Amino acid sequence: MDKWTLGIESTAHTLSFGLVDSKGIPYPSCSDTVSPTEGGIHPREAADHHKEVASILLGKLLVQNELSMTDIGAVSYSQGPGLGPCLRVGAAIARGISSRLEVPLIGVNHCVAHIEIGRDQCGCTDPVLLYVSGGNTQVIARLEGRYRVLGETLDIGIGNMLDKFARTQGIPFPGGPVIEKLAAKWLEENPNPTMDGLELPYAVRGMDLAFSGVMTAAQRLLESGKSLEAVCWSLQEHVFAACVEVAERAMAHTGKTELLLGGGVACNSRLRTMCELMAAERESTSFAPPRMYCIDNGTMIAKLGFLELDSGRITTYPHSAVDQYLRTDQTPITWV
Ligand code: AMP
Ligand code: MG
Repeated sequence: MDKWTLGIESTAHTLSFGLVDSKGIPYPSCSDTVSPTEGGIHPREAADHHKEVASILLGKLLVQNELSMTDIGAVSYSQGPGLGPCLRVGAAIARGISSRLEVPLIGVNHCVAHIEIGRDQCGCTDPVLLYVSGGNTQVIARLEGRYRVLGETLDIGIGNMLDKFARTQGIPFPGGPVIEKLAAKWLEENPNPTMDGLELPYAVRGMDLAFSGVMTAAQRLLESGKSLEAVCWSLQEHVFAACVEVAERAMAHTGKTELLLGGGVACNSRLRTMCELMAAERESTSFAPPRMYCIDNGTMIAKLGFLELDSGRITTYPHSAVDQYLRTDQTPITWV
């Protein structure tokens, strides 16, 4: 009988279960996200949330796909990077299922999973990846069997910055989508916008990025009387331009002609448009996966688990501990 690979994502705010079938074809995930009413994500509280909703989500996923647990032939989970307590919940569930069903266990790199689901969905082969999520902001390219980080944030992830800025204005997590709406509203009312009075510091540091100074400066603009909509627009323009600039330089250095977006902030339509414009100017192509595969999802973990298993790798129990600080370039790429 054809068996499926189950993927478990639990690096931060979201617990998600997803599947790929025996040919590695992805199926939509069942997910639930903690949304704190006040403050940021507390790792322990998020982990408690994940424990509470796990069995309901897994049951829902199986019903949705008319499967039972005996159809699962392998289980993969995010081994890192992420928040320790959250990662440990996903790993414990994966070990339990693997041992109960006597199926292979595969611990995978969350960042690499974002890349592989994107490649799968967009049909690109060797892209520069602009990975923009809550906790991570990296520009990545494959070289000699690894995904190498060519540039990254020196302080906070771009998504965390957007969420934090939103929170100072009483907008609950996730703030990114709300900032996008406010910026679009301002643009509608100001079809010929200028940066006059709305300038912010530029986030590029060589091939790296930095966002906390931009956030503080955006708050100052609000204090000086600028409208929230205008500041949201300016903030997006500045930080997205910085990301696109580093991505463009990565394409120039590596000679690659594909750009692939990944991570939750890649849901943003303005960022997608800016990437398309840059790529078109370079006679290249910009790809963005469907939004359900940009945000953290179990399906991407299942997809990478499938690829790793197919190339002969499994995770033994003594090596199944999570690694909060796992780097993108620590994972050998053996399936390409
Ligand atoms: P991830 O960590 O990859 O799950 O992505 C979550 C992050 O994506 C959060 O910081 C969100 O605020 C951000 N995000 C989601 N949708 C959008 C959007 N449309 N525009 C900007 N940021 C977004
Ligand atoms: Mg992510």
